Amino acid sequence: MDATTVTTWMREIETSVTQERDRLVQLDAAIGDGDHGTNMTRGFAAVVQALSQDQEAPPGRLLILAGRTLVSSVGGASGPLWGSALRSGGRVLGDQATFDGPQLVEVLAAALASVKDLGAASVGDKTMVDALEPAVAALGRTVGEGASLADALEAAAAAAEAGMRSTIPLQARKGRASYLGERSIGHQDPGATSTALMIRALQRAAAASS
Ligand code: ADP
Ligand code: MG
Repeated sequence: MDATTVTTWMREIETSVTQERDRLVQLDAAIGDGDHGTNMTRGFAAVVQALSQDQEAPPGRLLILAGRTLVSSVGGASGPLWGSALRSGGRVLGDQATFDGPQLVEVLAAALASVKDLGAASVGDKTMVDALEPAVAALGRTVGEGASLADALEAAAAAAEAGMRSTIPLQARKGRASYLGERSIGHQDPGATSTALMIRALQRAAAASS
């Protein structure tokens, strides 16, 4: 994988969150303020635009630029959270031109650590962490077992989707949805939903790079 993998990943995310914008808005309208779909589409449109201006940068620099762009273009909680996640992930790669499966695990583990550090959420709090943490764990486990990157990313995407669905019966303990208390139960978390879309997008980007 290389810089093209990162730009393809960001383009795939933009396409996916744009297709699912109304659904993300509905999910956030139920337990938040209804802006998650527009936050994600605005943010990733800005990321794709920013990355198109920088054709020469290595993959880590592109992730850092993507993170910085999200922070400056998204007002909601998801902007700073994903912004710091992508910047932390990018820093893992430094200036290297390519990266392999074990390094991708390190990138995503750093991204997860950054989300948890900034947002103080754990699995079970009904946030994006419920999708991201199992995805990183599944990726780490399968890559560690020597699986192909395609199989490892399939496992990661499936784990993110299972984590996304696991948020439905939970009561939110972080973010806006936590203000609803028990009334947040029975709704799928919008941030976990977009996170599952993002890991699915990564699977497609990696497949396009191989
Ligand atoms: P806002 O809540 O500010 O309107 P968004 O609607 O864009 O921002 O994003 C909401 C999503 O952000 C939630 O569904 C949840 O997944 C995630 N989120 C909110 N607070 C936290 C937190 N402290 N830690 C992790 N994720 C969080
Ligand atoms: Mg919102």
